Amino acid sequence: MNPQVEAAAERLLNLLYPRRCPLCGGVVYGTPWNGAVCPDCAREADRLCHQPPRLPATEHEFYAVNTAAGAFYYADGVRHGILLCKEFGKPWFAREFADLIAVLVYGAEPAPVPGRMPVYQNLTGIPLYHAIVPVVPREKRHPADNLPLLLARRLGRILDLPVLCPLVTTRSIRPQKTLDLAQRQKNTNGAYACRPGTDLTGKRILLVDDIITSGSTVSACALALLAAGAVAVDAVCIAAAEDLPREKQKPKPAKRKFKENSHQ
Ligand SMILES: [Zn+2]
Repeated sequence: MNPQVEAAAERLLNLLYPRRCPLCGGVVYGTPWNGAVCPDCAREADRLCHQPPRLPATEHEFYAVNTAAGAFYYADGVRHGILLCKEFGKPWFAREFADLIAVLVYGAEPAPVPGRMPVYQNLTGIPLYHAIVPVVPREKRHPADNLPLLLARRLGRILDLPVLCPLVTTRSIRPQKTLDLAQRQKNTNGAYACRPGTDLTGKRILLVDDIITSGSTVSACALALLAAGAVAVDAVCIAAAEDLPREKQKPKPAKRKFKENSHQ
């Protein structure tokens, strides 16, 4: 679709279906945090922001990926938003999360008003990446299950990159969340490949997933992309499952002082 027509269609849709905050589902009003989070959730988004976005190797077991980055820590409000998207089939959350990745990880200018897209200007004129590739979801019950693809499509529009889907699973994969690190690696090792005939020779690839936990899924996918000729694979996600730094932890509610209220 012509980008101008696409943008006009999006503005029209936004009038009918106002944009919603991906952390709470409320309508984004006023001046949203970095273009996509409602003022009520701004403090939560600030707290869970992964700054700098690069994921530390000490928290993950990466191989085959060059670097990995995430916009947030996978905790509290961010976890709630991702689960709303995946478990309750609300695919529009993907757009808001992709916009936040563009702003927080790639330094795009936040949308000035709700309903607009962040603006990414790569002033070097040399594309950082040649293509975006989403991780293959384990199973697809509804469109939002394919969160990596939805994220990749939106990021592709913002970063002006083509989206390719060469990855396939070569065997069944168990849900990662029930497994420990060794089991995760065994579960994903060799579980991905590129479709026969895929040629990524000389391409730098941005690999997109929703959550990075151990890093074994993105690593196994990256290995398959390298085998198809890619020269470098960087991974990006909405949220990284890492131990929250102490300053990021939720403040504990103050203990109630019964004595003070006992005269009531
Ligand atoms: Zn909110």
